[in-house]
Amino acid sequence: MGEQENMRAYILELEGRLRAAEARAEAVEREAELQQSRAIELSARLSAILSISAALLISRDVDAIVQLVVREAASLFPGTSAAHLFLLDTENDTLILRAAAGVSERVSGRGLADMAILAPRSMLLVGPQLEIALAEVDEEEIASLRSHIPGWPPYSALLAPLRVESTRMGAIVLYGGVSAHLYHPRDIPFIQALADLTAVAIDEVLQRARAAALQRDLAITQSLHAEAQARLNTAQAQLLQSAKLAAVGELSASVAHEINNPLYAARNSLYLVEQDLAPDAPQRSFLAIAQQELGRIARIITRMRDFYRPTRAELAATSINTILRETLELVQTHLRHGHIHAVATLEPDLPATIAHADQLRQVFLNIILNACDAMPRGGDLRVTTQMLQARPEAPATIGVYIVDTGVGIAPEHLPHLFEPFYTTKAQGTGLGLAISAHIVTQHGGRITVESAPGQGTTFTILLPVSQ
Ligand code: ADP
Ligand code: MG
Repeated sequence: MGEQENMRAYILELEGRLRAAEARAEAVEREAELQQSRAIELSARLSAILSISAALLISRDVDAIVQLVVREAASLFPGTSAAHLFLLDTENDTLILRAAAGVSERVSGRGLADMAILAPRSMLLVGPQLEIALAEVDEEEIASLRSHIPGWPPYSALLAPLRVESTRMGAIVLYGGVSAHLYHPRDIPFIQALADLTAVAIDEVLQRARAAALQRDLAITQSLHAEAQARLNTAQAQLLQSAKLAAVGELSASVAHEINNPLYAARNSLYLVEQDLAPDAPQRSFLAIAQQELGRIARIITRMRDFYRPTRAELAATSINTILRETLELVQTHLRHGHIHAVATLEPDLPATIAHADQLRQVFLNIILNACDAMPRGGDLRVTTQMLQARPEAPATIGVYIVDTGVGIAPEHLPHLFEPFYTTKAQGTGLGLAISAHIVTQHGGRITVESAPGQGTTFTILLPVSQ
Protein backbone atom coordinates (compact mmCIF):
# COMPACT_ATOMS: atom_id res chain seq x y z
CA MET A 1 0.00 0.00 0.00
CA GLY A 2 2.64 2.40 1.13
CA GLU A 3 4.75 1.25 -1.75
CA GLN A 4 1.94 1.90 -4.18
CA GLU A 5 1.61 5.46 -2.99
CA ASN A 6 5.25 5.97 -3.22
CA MET A 7 5.16 4.72 -6.71
CA ARG A 8 2.32 7.12 -7.69
CA ALA A 9 4.12 10.01 -6.16
CA TYR A 10 7.21 9.07 -8.05
CA ILE A 11 5.31 8.84 -11.31
CA LEU A 12 3.72 12.22 -10.68
CA GLU A 13 7.10 13.68 -10.08
CA LEU A 14 8.43 12.12 -13.21
CA GLU A 15 5.48 13.46 -15.17
CA GLY A 16 6.16 16.89 -13.71
CA ARG A 17 9.79 16.75 -14.72
CA LEU A 18 8.85 15.56 -18.16
CA ARG A 19 6.47 18.46 -18.66
CA ALA A 20 9.10 20.88 -17.42
CA ALA A 21 11.64 19.35 -19.78
CA GLU A 22 9.13 19.57 -22.61
CA ALA A 23 8.44 23.19 -21.80
CA ARG A 24 12.14 23.92 -21.74
CA ALA A 25 12.60 22.16 -25.03
CA GLU A 26 9.76 24.15 -26.51
CA ALA A 27 11.29 27.38 -25.25
CA VAL A 28 14.65 26.42 -26.69
CA GLU A 29 12.98 25.56 -29.97
CA ARG A 30 11.13 28.87 -30.00
CA GLU A 31 14.36 30.66 -29.25
CA ALA A 32 16.08 28.71 -32.01
CA GLU A 33 13.31 29.61 -34.43
CA LEU A 34 13.57 33.22 -33.46
CA GLN A 35 17.33 33.16 -33.89
CA GLN A 36 16.93 31.46 -37.22
CA SER A 37 14.42 33.97 -38.49
CA ARG A 38 16.71 36.77 -37.29
CA ALA A 39 19.61 35.11 -39.07
CA ILE A 40 17.55 34.87 -42.24
CA GLU A 41 16.49 38.51 -41.90
CA LEU A 42 20.08 39.51 -41.24
CA SER A 43 21.45 37.69 -44.24
CA ALA A 44 18.63 39.06 -46.42
CA ARG A 45 19.49 42.56 -45.25
CA LEU A 46 23.19 42.04 -45.72
CA SER A 47 22.69 40.84 -49.26
CA ALA A 48 20.32 43.77 -49.88
CA ILE A 49 22.99 46.18 -48.61
CA LEU A 50 25.55 44.44 -50.82
CA SER A 51 23.42 44.75 -53.92
CA ILE A 52 22.65 48.38 -53.07
CA SER A 53 26.34 49.13 -52.73
CA ALA A 54 27.01 47.43 -56.05
CA ALA A 55 24.26 49.49 -57.70
CA LEU A 56 25.47 52.71 -56.08
CA LEU A 57 28.97 52.02 -57.28
CA ILE A 58 27.94 52.14 -60.91
CA SER A 59 25.48 55.02 -60.56
CA ARG A 60 26.50 58.01 -62.59
CA ASP A 61 24.09 60.66 -61.40
CA VAL A 62 22.72 61.87 -58.11
CA ASP A 63 19.06 61.42 -59.06
CA ALA A 64 19.53 57.76 -59.87
CA ILE A 65 21.27 57.27 -56.52
CA VAL A 66 18.66 58.95 -54.34
CA GLN A 67 15.79 57.17 -56.08
CA LEU A 68 17.47 53.81 -55.58
CA VAL A 69 18.19 54.54 -51.92
CA VAL A 70 14.65 55.48 -50.90
CA ARG A 71 13.24 52.52 -52.81
CA GLU A 72 15.63 50.10 -51.14
CA ALA A 73 15.21 51.70 -47.71
CA ALA A 74 11.48 51.13 -47.85
CA SER A 75 11.98 47.44 -48.52
CA LEU A 76 14.99 47.02 -46.22
CA PHE A 77 13.00 48.23 -43.20
CA PRO A 78 9.60 46.53 -43.10
CA GLY A 79 6.80 48.70 -41.76
CA THR A 80 8.18 51.87 -43.35
CA SER A 81 5.32 54.13 -44.37
CA ALA A 82 7.52 56.85 -45.87
CA ALA A 83 11.18 57.21 -46.77
CA HIS A 84 12.61 60.70 -47.41
CA LEU A 85 16.00 61.64 -48.68
CA PHE A 86 17.13 65.26 -48.34
CA LEU A 87 20.24 66.86 -49.75
CA LEU A 88 21.80 70.06 -48.54
CA ASP A 89 21.73 72.88 -51.08
CA THR A 90 25.04 74.42 -50.10
CA GLU A 91 24.32 77.70 -51.86
CA ASN A 92 21.24 78.48 -49.77
CA ASP A 93 22.14 76.22 -46.87
CA THR A 94 18.73 74.54 -47.04
CA LEU A 95 17.63 70.95 -47.13
CA ILE A 96 15.85 69.91 -50.31
CA LEU A 97 13.74 66.78 -50.60
CA ARG A 98 15.38 64.88 -53.43
CA ALA A 99 13.56 61.55 -53.29
CA ALA A 100 10.67 59.98 -51.45
CA ALA A 101 9.14 56.54 -51.29
CA GLY A 102 5.71 55.74 -49.98
CA VAL A 103 4.54 59.35 -50.35
CA SER A 104 4.06 61.92 -52.99
CA GLU A 105 7.30 63.73 -53.70
CA ARG A 106 5.47 67.01 -53.51
CA VAL A 107 5.30 66.69 -49.76
CA SER A 108 6.43 70.01 -48.35
CA GLY A 109 8.41 70.42 -45.20
CA ARG A 110 11.48 68.77 -43.93
CA GLY A 111 9.92 67.10 -40.89
CA LEU A 112 12.64 65.43 -38.89
CA ALA A 113 15.32 66.07 -41.54
CA ASP A 114 16.72 69.10 -39.70
CA MET A 115 17.26 66.94 -36.67
CA ALA A 116 18.66 64.07 -38.74
CA ILE A 117 21.33 66.11 -40.50
CA LEU A 118 22.62 67.43 -37.19
CA ALA A 119 22.68 64.01 -35.53
CA PRO A 120 26.20 62.72 -34.89
CA ARG A 121 25.10 59.29 -36.13
CA SER A 122 22.02 57.33 -37.04
CA MET A 123 19.32 57.14 -34.43
CA LEU A 124 16.06 55.46 -33.60
CA LEU A 125 13.11 57.35 -32.13
CA VAL A 126 10.32 55.35 -30.53
CA GLY A 127 7.24 56.35 -28.58
CA PRO A 128 7.69 59.40 -26.31
CA GLN A 129 11.07 60.29 -27.89
CA LEU A 130 9.40 60.49 -31.28
CA GLU A 131 6.53 62.54 -29.86
CA ILE A 132 8.99 65.04 -28.39
CA ALA A 133 10.91 65.24 -31.65
CA LEU A 134 7.75 65.84 -33.70
CA ALA A 135 6.59 68.50 -31.28
CA GLU A 136 9.64 70.51 -32.33
CA VAL A 137 8.55 70.50 -35.98
CA ASP A 138 6.67 73.42 -37.50
CA GLU A 139 2.91 72.85 -37.49
CA GLU A 140 2.48 73.52 -41.18
CA GLU A 141 5.03 70.89 -41.98
CA ILE A 142 3.34 68.41 -39.71
CA ALA A 143 0.05 69.12 -41.49
CA SER A 144 1.71 68.45 -44.84
CA LEU A 145 3.31 65.25 -43.60
CA ARG A 146 0.02 64.11 -42.06
CA SER A 147 -1.78 64.46 -45.37
CA HIS A 148 0.92 62.56 -47.25
CA ILE A 149 2.06 59.82 -44.93
CA PRO A 150 -0.38 56.96 -44.31
CA GLY A 151 -1.07 56.04 -40.69
CA TRP A 152 0.15 59.31 -39.21
CA PRO A 153 1.46 59.68 -36.51
CA PRO A 154 4.29 57.19 -36.92
CA TYR A 155 5.15 54.82 -34.09
CA SER A 156 8.88 55.00 -34.69
CA ALA A 157 11.37 56.73 -36.93
CA LEU A 158 14.90 56.13 -38.17
CA LEU A 159 17.12 59.15 -38.79
CA ALA A 160 20.47 59.04 -40.55
CA PRO A 161 22.80 61.90 -41.44
CA LEU A 162 24.45 61.72 -44.86
CA ARG A 163 28.02 62.80 -44.67
CA VAL A 164 31.49 62.16 -45.91
CA GLU A 165 34.11 62.72 -43.28
CA SER A 166 32.96 65.89 -41.56
CA THR A 167 30.99 67.32 -44.47
CA ARG A 168 27.24 67.13 -44.02
CA MET A 169 25.43 66.41 -47.27
CA GLY A 170 21.88 65.59 -46.24
CA ALA A 171 19.77 63.09 -44.36
CA ILE A 172 17.56 60.04 -44.66
CA VAL A 173 14.36 59.94 -42.60
CA LEU A 174 12.22 56.81 -42.35
CA TYR A 175 8.79 56.92 -40.72
CA GLY A 176 7.49 53.60 -39.38
CA GLY A 177 3.75 53.55 -39.53
CA VAL A 178 2.76 50.08 -38.43
CA SER A 179 2.88 49.37 -34.70
CA ALA A 180 3.46 45.67 -35.31
CA HIS A 181 6.71 46.60 -37.05
CA LEU A 182 8.32 49.06 -34.71
CA TYR A 183 11.83 49.89 -35.80
CA HIS A 184 14.34 48.14 -33.57
CA PRO A 185 17.80 49.08 -32.32
CA ARG A 186 19.26 46.41 -34.57
CA ASP A 187 18.03 48.50 -37.55
CA ILE A 188 20.48 51.27 -36.65
CA PRO A 189 23.65 49.72 -38.13
CA PHE A 190 21.75 49.06 -41.34
CA ILE A 191 20.40 52.57 -41.80
CA GLN A 192 23.88 53.80 -40.91
CA ALA A 193 25.45 51.54 -43.56
CA LEU A 194 22.88 52.66 -46.13
CA ALA A 195 23.51 56.33 -45.29
CA ASP A 196 27.28 55.93 -45.51
CA LEU A 197 27.06 54.14 -48.85
CA THR A 198 24.72 56.82 -50.17
CA ALA A 199 26.95 59.66 -49.02
CA VAL A 200 30.04 58.12 -50.57
CA ALA A 201 28.25 57.40 -53.86
CA ILE A 202 26.86 60.95 -54.11
CA ASP A 203 30.19 62.46 -53.14
CA GLU A 204 31.92 60.46 -55.82
CA VAL A 205 29.47 61.58 -58.50
CA LEU A 206 29.88 65.21 -57.41
CA GLN A 207 33.67 64.93 -57.33
CA ARG A 208 33.66 63.40 -60.76
CA ALA A 209 31.44 66.18 -62.11
CA ARG A 210 33.68 68.76 -60.47
CA ALA A 211 36.78 67.14 -61.97
CA ALA A 212 35.17 67.04 -65.40
CA ALA A 213 34.17 70.70 -65.10
CA LEU A 214 37.69 71.62 -64.04
CA GLN A 215 39.10 69.68 -66.93
CA ARG A 216 36.75 71.44 -69.33
CA ASP A 217 37.73 74.81 -67.90
CA LEU A 218 41.36 73.92 -68.20
CA ALA A 219 40.95 72.84 -71.83
CA ILE A 220 39.08 76.06 -72.63
CA THR A 221 41.73 78.16 -70.91
CA GLN A 222 44.43 76.32 -72.77
CA SER A 223 42.79 76.78 -76.14
CA LEU A 224 42.11 80.46 -75.38
CA HIS A 225 45.71 80.84 -74.43
CA ALA A 226 46.90 79.13 -77.61
CA GLU A 227 44.55 81.30 -79.64
CA ALA A 228 45.80 84.47 -77.98
CA GLN A 229 49.37 83.35 -78.51
CA ALA A 230 48.67 82.66 -82.18
CA ARG A 231 47.03 86.06 -82.60
CA LEU A 232 49.96 87.71 -80.89
CA ASN A 233 52.38 85.89 -83.17
CA THR A 234 50.48 86.95 -86.28
CA ALA A 235 50.22 90.50 -85.03
CA GLN A 236 53.93 90.58 -84.36
CA ALA A 237 54.72 89.10 -87.74
CA GLN A 238 52.42 91.63 -89.39
CA LEU A 239 54.02 94.44 -87.47
CA LEU A 240 57.45 93.31 -88.56
CA GLN A 241 56.23 92.99 -92.12
CA SER A 242 54.72 96.47 -92.08
CA ALA A 243 57.85 97.90 -90.54
CA LYS A 244 59.97 96.34 -93.27
CA LEU A 245 57.60 97.60 -95.91
CA ALA A 246 57.60 101.06 -94.46
CA ALA A 247 61.39 101.01 -94.52
CA VAL A 248 61.33 99.84 -98.11
CA GLY A 249 58.85 102.57 -98.93
CA GLU A 250 60.91 105.27 -97.33
CA LEU A 251 64.08 104.00 -98.91
CA SER A 252 62.63 103.83 -102.40
CA ALA A 253 60.96 107.20 -102.05
CA SER A 254 64.24 108.81 -101.07
CA VAL A 255 66.12 106.89 -103.78
CA ALA A 256 63.53 108.08 -106.29
CA HIS A 257 63.93 111.59 -105.05
CA GLU A 258 67.74 111.42 -105.21
CA ILE A 259 67.70 109.98 -108.71
CA ASN A 260 65.12 112.40 -109.97
CA ASN A 261 67.39 115.47 -109.91
CA PRO A 262 70.41 114.02 -111.74
CA LEU A 263 68.00 112.32 -114.13
CA TYR A 264 66.33 115.60 -114.89
CA ALA A 265 69.75 117.19 -115.46
CA ALA A 266 70.84 114.35 -117.74
CA ARG A 267 67.65 114.53 -119.82
CA ASN A 268 67.99 118.27 -120.09
CA SER A 269 71.60 117.96 -121.21
CA LEU A 270 70.65 115.40 -123.85
CA TYR A 271 67.94 117.77 -125.05
CA LEU A 272 70.49 120.54 -125.37
CA VAL A 273 72.88 118.24 -127.24
CA GLU A 274 70.06 117.26 -129.56
CA GLN A 275 69.34 120.90 -130.33
CA ASP A 276 72.90 121.37 -131.54
CA LEU A 277 73.07 118.27 -133.74
CA ALA A 278 72.63 118.43 -137.46
CA PRO A 279 69.34 116.81 -138.53
CA ASP A 280 71.22 114.01 -140.30
CA ALA A 281 73.98 113.49 -137.74
CA PRO A 282 74.60 109.76 -137.21
CA GLN A 283 74.80 110.29 -133.42
CA ARG A 284 71.07 111.08 -133.43
CA SER A 285 70.09 107.39 -133.29
CA PHE A 286 72.29 106.84 -130.19
CA LEU A 287 70.90 109.96 -128.66
CA ALA A 288 67.38 108.68 -129.24
CA ILE A 289 68.21 105.40 -127.49
CA ALA A 290 69.76 107.28 -124.55
CA GLN A 291 66.68 109.50 -124.29
CA GLN A 292 64.37 106.53 -124.51
CA GLU A 293 66.20 104.68 -121.76
CA LEU A 294 66.31 107.73 -119.53
CA GLY A 295 62.60 108.10 -120.11
CA ARG A 296 62.17 104.55 -118.97
CA ILE A 297 64.17 105.24 -115.82
CA ALA A 298 61.99 108.26 -115.17
CA ARG A 299 58.88 106.16 -115.49
CA ILE A 300 60.27 103.48 -113.18
CA ILE A 301 61.20 106.16 -110.66
CA THR A 302 57.71 107.61 -110.79
CA ARG A 303 56.21 104.19 -110.33
CA MET A 304 58.53 103.46 -107.46
CA ARG A 305 57.61 106.70 -105.78
CA ASP A 306 53.92 106.23 -106.34
CA PHE A 307 53.97 102.63 -105.34
CA TYR A 308 55.14 103.21 -101.84
CA ARG A 309 53.80 106.64 -101.26
CA PRO A 310 50.82 106.38 -98.98
CA THR A 311 48.08 106.57 -101.54
CA ARG A 312 45.73 109.44 -101.45
CA ALA A 313 43.43 107.50 -103.70
CA GLU A 314 39.89 107.80 -102.51
CA LEU A 315 38.15 104.96 -100.81
CA ALA A 316 35.10 104.20 -102.88
CA ALA A 317 32.39 101.64 -103.38
CA THR A 318 34.19 99.08 -105.47
CA SER A 319 33.13 96.01 -107.39
CA ILE A 320 35.65 93.24 -106.80
CA ASN A 321 34.36 91.41 -109.88
CA THR A 322 35.01 94.43 -112.07
CA ILE A 323 38.55 94.82 -110.77
CA LEU A 324 39.26 91.15 -111.42
CA ARG A 325 37.85 91.40 -114.96
CA GLU A 326 39.99 94.47 -115.64
CA THR A 327 43.09 92.76 -114.29
CA LEU A 328 42.53 89.69 -116.45
CA GLU A 329 41.99 91.96 -119.41
CA LEU A 330 45.31 93.61 -118.67
CA VAL A 331 47.24 90.33 -118.73
CA GLN A 332 45.28 88.81 -121.62
CA THR A 333 48.17 88.90 -124.07
CA HIS A 334 50.59 87.69 -121.48
CA LEU A 335 48.36 84.71 -120.75
CA ARG A 336 47.94 83.85 -124.42
CA HIS A 337 51.68 83.88 -124.99
CA GLY A 338 52.22 81.73 -121.93
CA HIS A 339 49.61 79.18 -123.10
CA ILE A 340 47.64 79.81 -119.98
CA HIS A 341 43.94 79.18 -120.12
CA ALA A 342 42.09 81.51 -117.77
CA VAL A 343 38.58 80.91 -116.46
CA ALA A 344 36.76 83.40 -114.29
CA THR A 345 33.77 82.24 -112.22
CA LEU A 346 32.46 85.37 -110.60
CA GLU A 347 29.50 85.39 -108.28
CA PRO A 348 26.93 87.64 -109.96
CA ASP A 349 25.40 89.19 -106.82
CA LEU A 350 28.59 90.24 -105.12
CA PRO A 351 27.93 93.41 -103.12
CA ALA A 352 30.11 96.45 -103.68
CA THR A 353 32.56 97.12 -100.88
CA ILE A 354 34.44 100.23 -99.81
CA ALA A 355 38.03 99.84 -101.00
CA HIS A 356 41.01 101.35 -102.82
CA ALA A 357 40.36 99.96 -106.28
CA ASP A 358 43.90 100.68 -107.50
CA GLN A 359 45.48 98.91 -104.60
CA LEU A 360 43.31 95.84 -104.98
CA ARG A 361 44.06 95.78 -108.70
CA GLN A 362 47.72 95.73 -107.72
CA VAL A 363 47.10 92.76 -105.42
CA PHE A 364 45.29 90.71 -108.04
CA LEU A 365 47.87 91.57 -110.66
CA ASN A 366 50.73 90.46 -108.41
CA ILE A 367 49.11 87.15 -107.67
CA ILE A 368 48.08 86.47 -111.26
CA LEU A 369 51.57 87.31 -112.54
CA ASN A 370 53.07 84.98 -109.93
CA ALA A 371 50.68 82.27 -111.13
CA CYS A 372 51.89 82.84 -114.70
CA ASP A 373 55.51 82.60 -113.52
CA ALA A 374 54.64 79.30 -111.88
CA MET A 375 53.34 77.85 -115.19
CA PRO A 376 56.27 78.29 -117.59
CA ARG A 377 54.84 75.60 -119.86
CA GLY A 378 51.27 76.79 -119.69
CA GLY A 379 48.36 75.63 -117.58
CA ASP A 380 45.05 76.68 -116.13
CA LEU A 381 44.29 79.79 -114.17
CA ARG A 382 41.02 79.89 -112.31
CA VAL A 383 39.72 83.06 -110.75
CA THR A 384 36.65 82.67 -108.55
CA THR A 385 34.65 84.96 -106.32
CA GLN A 386 32.20 83.90 -103.70
CA MET A 387 29.98 85.44 -101.06
CA LEU A 388 30.86 83.95 -97.69
CA GLN A 389 28.85 84.19 -94.53
CA ALA A 390 29.52 81.60 -91.90
CA ARG A 391 26.67 82.65 -89.63
CA PRO A 392 23.83 85.15 -90.06
CA GLU A 393 25.35 87.48 -87.43
CA ALA A 394 28.88 87.08 -88.83
CA PRO A 395 30.15 89.88 -91.06
CA ALA A 396 29.67 89.24 -94.76
CA THR A 397 32.92 88.42 -96.52
CA ILE A 398 33.95 88.23 -100.15
CA GLY A 399 36.20 85.32 -101.02
CA VAL A 400 38.54 85.63 -104.01
CA TYR A 401 40.34 82.46 -105.10
CA ILE A 402 43.18 82.52 -107.60
CA VAL A 403 44.19 79.00 -108.51
CA ASP A 404 46.96 77.84 -110.81
CA THR A 405 48.17 74.46 -111.99
CA GLY A 406 51.80 75.48 -111.73
CA VAL A 407 54.90 74.13 -110.05
CA GLY A 408 53.56 74.73 -106.54
CA ILE A 409 55.47 75.88 -103.50
CA ALA A 410 57.80 73.77 -101.39
CA PRO A 411 56.65 73.60 -97.75
CA GLU A 412 59.82 75.29 -96.50
CA HIS A 413 59.03 78.38 -98.59
CA LEU A 414 55.40 78.68 -97.50
CA PRO A 415 55.94 80.48 -94.19
CA HIS A 416 58.11 83.15 -95.81
CA LEU A 417 56.18 84.06 -98.96
CA PHE A 418 54.73 87.24 -97.52
CA GLU A 419 58.04 88.52 -96.21
CA PRO A 420 59.53 91.42 -98.14
CA PHE A 421 62.41 90.40 -100.44
CA TYR A 422 61.58 86.72 -100.20
CA THR A 423 61.88 85.35 -103.71
CA THR A 424 62.87 82.15 -105.42
CA LYS A 425 63.21 83.83 -108.80
CA ALA A 426 66.48 84.97 -110.31
CA GLN A 427 64.88 88.25 -111.36
CA GLY A 428 62.37 88.45 -108.53
CA THR A 429 62.01 91.33 -106.11
CA GLY A 430 60.17 89.39 -103.43
CA LEU A 431 57.95 92.39 -102.89
CA GLY A 432 54.78 91.40 -104.73
CA LEU A 433 53.23 89.27 -102.02
CA ALA A 434 54.53 91.41 -99.17
CA ILE A 435 52.82 94.46 -100.62
CA SER A 436 49.70 92.46 -101.49
CA ALA A 437 49.41 91.20 -97.93
CA HIS A 438 49.91 94.70 -96.63
CA ILE A 439 47.15 96.08 -98.83
CA VAL A 440 44.72 93.29 -97.99
CA THR A 441 45.38 93.74 -94.28
CA GLN A 442 44.80 97.47 -94.63
CA HIS A 443 41.40 96.57 -96.04
CA GLY A 444 40.64 94.46 -92.98
CA GLY A 445 41.03 91.28 -94.99
CA ARG A 446 43.23 88.22 -95.01
CA ILE A 447 45.33 86.51 -97.60
CA THR A 448 46.34 82.86 -97.39
CA VAL A 449 48.03 80.34 -99.60
CA GLU A 450 47.74 76.61 -100.07
CA SER A 451 49.96 74.66 -102.34
CA ALA A 452 50.82 71.16 -103.42
CA PRO A 453 54.26 71.02 -105.05
CA GLY A 454 53.93 69.82 -108.62
CA GLN A 455 50.17 70.34 -108.67
CA GLY A 456 49.50 74.00 -108.17
CA THR A 457 48.72 76.78 -105.78
CA THR A 458 45.65 78.53 -104.44
CA PHE A 459 45.73 82.06 -103.11
CA THR A 460 42.70 83.04 -101.07
CA ILE A 461 41.85 86.64 -100.37
CA LEU A 462 39.09 87.33 -97.89
CA LEU A 463 37.71 90.85 -97.85
CA PRO A 464 35.05 92.04 -95.44
CA VAL A 465 32.09 93.72 -97.06
CA SER A 466 31.92 97.27 -95.79
CA GLN A 467 29.25 99.70 -96.84
P1 ADP B 1 58.56 87.56 -106.63
O1 ADP B 1 57.45 87.23 -107.54
O2 ADP B 1 59.27 88.82 -107.02
O3 ADP B 1 59.50 86.43 -106.40
P2 ADP B 1 56.54 87.61 -104.69
O4 ADP B 1 56.44 88.22 -103.34
O5 ADP B 1 55.50 87.97 -105.65
O6 ADP B 1 57.96 87.93 -105.21
O7 ADP B 1 56.55 86.05 -104.51
C1 ADP B 1 57.45 85.47 -103.61
C2 ADP B 1 57.71 84.03 -103.94
O8 ADP B 1 56.55 83.27 -103.74
C3 ADP B 1 58.06 83.76 -105.35
O9 ADP B 1 59.44 83.94 -105.58
C4 ADP B 1 57.67 82.32 -105.54
O10 ADP B 1 58.68 81.45 -105.05
C5 ADP B 1 56.52 82.17 -104.62
N1 ADP B 1 55.24 82.16 -105.31
C6 ADP B 1 54.35 83.15 -105.31
N2 ADP B 1 53.23 82.79 -106.01
C7 ADP B 1 53.44 81.54 -106.47
C8 ADP B 1 52.68 80.61 -107.26
N3 ADP B 1 51.46 80.91 -107.73
N4 ADP B 1 53.23 79.39 -107.52
C9 ADP B 1 54.44 79.09 -107.04
N5 ADP B 1 55.21 79.92 -106.29
C10 ADP B 1 54.72 81.13 -106.01
MG1 MG C 1 55.73 88.44 -107.75
